[in-house]
Amino acid sequence: MKATLFHTHGGPEVLEYADFPTPEPKPGEALIRLRAAALNRVDIWVRNGWPGLKLEYPHIPGADGAGEIAGLGDGVTDWNVGDRVVINSNLGCGRCDFCLAGQDNLCRNWHLLGETLRGTYCEYIALPLRQLFKLPAGFDYHAAAAAALVYHTAWHSLVTRAGLKAGETVLVVGASGGVNTASIQIAKYFGAQVIVIGANAEKLSLAESLGADLLVDRSKEEDWSKAVFKATDRRGVDIVVDNVGTTFPLSMRALRKGGRLLTVGNTGGPKFEIDNRFIFGKHLSIIGSTMGTLKDFAEVMSLVTANRLRVPLDRTFPLKDAAAAQSRLEKGEQLGKITLDIP
Ligand code: ZN
Repeated sequence: MKATLFHTHGGPEVLEYADFPTPEPKPGEALIRLRAAALNRVDIWVRNGWPGLKLEYPHIPGADGAGEIAGLGDGVTDWNVGDRVVINSNLGCGRCDFCLAGQDNLCRNWHLLGETLRGTYCEYIALPLRQLFKLPAGFDYHAAAAAALVYHTAWHSLVTRAGLKAGETVLVVGASGGVNTASIQIAKYFGAQVIVIGANAEKLSLAESLGADLLVDRSKEEDWSKAVFKATDRRGVDIVVDNVGTTFPLSMRALRKGGRLLTVGNTGGPKFEIDNRFIFGKHLSIIGSTMGTLKDFAEVMSLVTANRLRVPLDRTFPLKDAAAAQSRLEKGEQLGKITLDIP
């Protein structure tokens, strides 16, 4: 099969479009002929590498993908060749105490496709059937692939961990990242009021098109926590979605007493200072998570494929041009998700 892969860490130039052996489905697995893959920031972090990351080379990046079942391993009964599917990239072992308790994203032997295992920048992938969600006829593979990781992550954080309720106020720090745009849509679906902090008018107009109620341009209001406090009648917001990290001090100021600060990432870097007085003095909860459970995936993808939640799509590149696609993501030029077309 064809794949875009790399043999060494580095910039986009290390990506090669090459031949790689087509995998075989094991018992309980399906072979999926991928039609679309979607890019995530983790693809770039893995390509750049970090101390302690051990990959089996060549490595194939990519967590998100959608396509149709092209083959089945032994012992599979409920699925058919030709079924259209989207992939849940969050792989639990299915056997440990966390997996058996339905908390598979806490698995003791947890893997993410494209990170610790070869991923979706390729024509074929073999996966256990529990990792697949059936797509309705006609649902766009690119929209499905683009939605999977970010909607799964945002749903687990906002709904499962934070218990988001109708009528709450949700502040999203960032207007255009995949988890941020998914968080805006999920919060609106639950009947929350949504405030978004964005880098510029163009990114904020995307947030507005997704239903954001109040937009704050951080290029004009550096201390945006004041604008948020004013907008909530000096009460503060119930929930902040902060995947920047370095903005925690402002996010903690913007929260009401007893508020929840959610984080699933750190696009601003991993280390920063926080003032502990805000945590105890304001009774704040800081809730971290990564990805979501099998149940979360089924719930949120049911809504995505019923067109109740929309994923904004940026540009599509052919699989062989994945380096150009990653460069666009690295430069932050995208508005919505970048996808790869796998013809
Ligand atoms: Zn497990």
